[in-house]
Amino acid sequence: MAFKLFKTGDDLYEQGNELIKRGEFGKARDILQKSIEREGGVNDVAAAMVALIDVGKAQSNPGSYQRLMEALKACSERGFVFGLTDVDRDELIQECALTARKLAALAKGTNRDSKMEAAQELQQVAQDFQTQMGDRTLVIPEIFRKDSTVTGTTEFFNLMATSYEMMSEATVWDDPSQAAEYEQIAMGYRQQNGQSGEANANRIRQFANTSKCWLCGRVATGEGIHFFSAPAEVSGALEKESAGGPAKSSPADGQHIYICRACYTAVSNRADDISRVYFDRGMAELRATEARLQAEIAALQSQIAFARMGR
Ligand SMILES: [Zn+2]
Repeated sequence: MAFKLFKTGDDLYEQGNELIKRGEFGKARDILQKSIEREGGVNDVAAAMVALIDVGKAQSNPGSYQRLMEALKACSERGFVFGLTDVDRDELIQECALTARKLAALAKGTNRDSKMEAAQELQQVAQDFQTQMGDRTLVIPEIFRKDSTVTGTTEFFNLMATSYEMMSEATVWDDPSQAAEYEQIAMGYRQQNGQSGEANANRIRQFANTSKCWLCGRVATGEGIHFFSAPAEVSGALEKESAGGPAKSSPADGQHIYICRACYTAVSNRADDISRVYFDRGMAELRATEARLQAEIAALQSQIAFARMGR
């Protein structure tokens, strides 16, 4: 098969595949490129292999998957051997299309609204991974990351979990208990995929934590988001005074108090302003000292020059 296709480029093709077997993808790419130039066509297997190597170098770039899909669609063979892996052209096209959609959805979720939208798209991709690929192993992680555990089904669980985590991130600002529910669902998907879901459990705990601000007395739910634990000296008498009521104003360690986000940001913004004044004053003094030293150096230099002239 390869002989008929490659003629003079055939040796180069064989050489390229040997390099791929050894994991030397960069060198293999150069050789395969030469084979394409010698044969003069882009519809051969070597072009698809070059595009596949390029995906390996840029696995998080949707564009590289698009280019590989184009090369595969132009490829006249239904399959080829890449190093030690048998690659089915149409199956790899399917894997590329799904992966490109996944990456595009993940890249989209930058603000709260787009996160919700991206999460919905991700769920659609997850279901398509499940129905189109099922338990089939993904070829790209297998070749480039030596990971043959990634299948259509594991991608389904992973992406469903990620989708609910994105929804949690999008809602936690306004509604931490809703965010905790999303984390619960995400944890379920992670566990079905053999992961611990510990990060989800930690976030559920944080989101459900409620405190009363030591400074203003407001009740806030969602540790690390709507309130923070700040270092402070809490004497026994103060602790006794603030105890009681459903929400605590300090943890039990006597070294921290709970502050709501509004008080926390007000205090730290003010502290930043104050330190900026001291910083500016310090810098001004430093510059004045530098200018004085420069002037003294210049005076000394001219005295030295004068002394030399007199010799
Ligand atoms: Zn407060």
